[in-house]
Amino acid sequence: MASDKNTATNFINGKTCQAKGNTTLPVFNPATGKVYSVAPDSSASDIDAAVRAAQKAFPAWSRCPAEERAMWLQRIADAIGKQCAALAKAECVDTGKPISLARSVDIPRAESNFRFFAAAATQFSSESHNSSDALNITLRQPLGVVGCISPWNLPLYLLSWKVAPALAAGNTVVVKPSEITPMTASMLGDICADIDLPRGVLNIVHGSGSTTGQALVEHPGLKAVSFTGGTLTGTHIAKSLAGSFTKLALEMGGKNPSIVFADADLHSAVPEVVRAAFSNQGQICLCGSRVLVQATIYEAFRKQFVQEVQALRQGDPMNSKTQQGAVSSQAHMGKVLSAIRAARHSKASILCGGEQVIVPGRCKDGWFIAPTVIEGLSPEDPVNQHEIFGPVATLIPFQNEHDAIRIANGVKYGLAASLWSRDVDRCLRVAEGLEAGIIWVNCWMKRDLRTPFGGVKASGMGREGGVEAMRFFTQARNVCLNLRPESSQDK
Ligand code: NAD
Repeated sequence: MASDKNTATNFINGKTCQAKGNTTLPVFNPATGKVYSVAPDSSASDIDAAVRAAQKAFPAWSRCPAEERAMWLQRIADAIGKQCAALAKAECVDTGKPISLARSVDIPRAESNFRFFAAAATQFSSESHNSSDALNITLRQPLGVVGCISPWNLPLYLLSWKVAPALAAGNTVVVKPSEITPMTASMLGDICADIDLPRGVLNIVHGSGSTTGQALVEHPGLKAVSFTGGTLTGTHIAKSLAGSFTKLALEMGGKNPSIVFADADLHSAVPEVVRAAFSNQGQICLCGSRVLVQATIYEAFRKQFVQEVQALRQGDPMNSKTQQGAVSSQAHMGKVLSAIRAARHSKASILCGGEQVIVPGRCKDGWFIAPTVIEGLSPEDPVNQHEIFGPVATLIPFQNEHDAIRIANGVKYGLAASLWSRDVDRCLRVAEGLEAGIIWVNCWMKRDLRTPFGGVKASGMGREGGVEAMRFFTQARNVCLNLRPESSQDK
């Protein structure tokens, strides 16, 4: 039974285990700044064992009826649901995120990912294309062993977003979770052991990106890699795979705009734009870190926005009232603080926050940064160009629609955008002009699992979600049946 674990373990061929050389990596609690556990620091040989187990499991798993695969995914979902409290606590300790967020978002969404793709397994179908003289049957078949690499910001949630469709489509999987947040992935391994998931179908191998992750990407047994993480890492992985013909999907960084027009309903827009900027301490790839505000309402918006940001309750992530927890690591805190220093250097005004916060008591050595709002930087300033991925939002005034689209698109990223206006025509026009894979109008992070998820430009390649994920994890093969054999020489 997965419960409060002290040590993360690999899960290979149906068994929980340590790395072969018993090597480990420390795991920190960001809220206390202390090592609280260890995780396997796996080598290429552990990855090889996992890929071999997955290869052995593939024929039976890929051929088993879709209903049976769906049943296994439902069982995983049931177990996640039952253990929601323990998983949420583990996610809170591992990441520093507020326990309320882990309970209401991370773990329920991981559960619903497995449920959704359990249903998708039974609904996904091959297609046929009929014509007067031929019947084309397009088979969509699983790829084989696929590798899934996930980041630290939403550990179980994003891992399940890949693993569930990969398994539903009939593949067997090797996962490399983030070394910074291994615990809930390890508990998922325990869940799979508890329910007796057929051996080798899902394998979870912990370790650092440059060794364990790289060994996974380079393993010749892999048919596809699905990666979520930073753009630099994604670029490196794409280069590593060049020439290998391994299918690749990349979900990478963002520098997303929240665009507020003068006719927006500020009463509902301001709290949502605050949520979009600061949820999970701004460590969600979809966070709106650039807040573009039409000049005519700039002053009024700024006042309300800063007030609401200052009202966010920061503190011990285990306290259920806390809204802002710790950032993921000491190194990451240093990176975020150095972006704030760079803003000061560019003569920006720091409207609130701007520094590390000491949370008294057990969290006094934790990695907390006050939610920070910055104004006065040009859209081209590096702080407005590079992803910070922390509790930092910049305010940028704009004059008109054209200006808003130009500023919004003026970064290398193109993951998400949200826009706020009561004018539906304008919303559609602006949405069409934005270079982003996901656009929300008068809302942020509303989720429908059937919709395509992913970015354009340096934010991504390929799409997750719904049928897009099922298509990524399958290959199409066409069988053409001649219905008029006498005319087969026609073409
Ligand atoms: P990261 O790129 O440092 O690490 C992501 C994963 O890749 C980790 O498991 C890591 O161990 C692994 N990795 C690192 N080097 C590797 C290599 N050479 N070969 C194989 N694997 C390797 O990213 P992170 O710091 O964990 O996450 C934050 C980043 O993720 C941010 O840029 C954020 O925007 C992005 N992100 C994107 C999405 C999205 O859906 N587009 C979602 C969440 C996070």
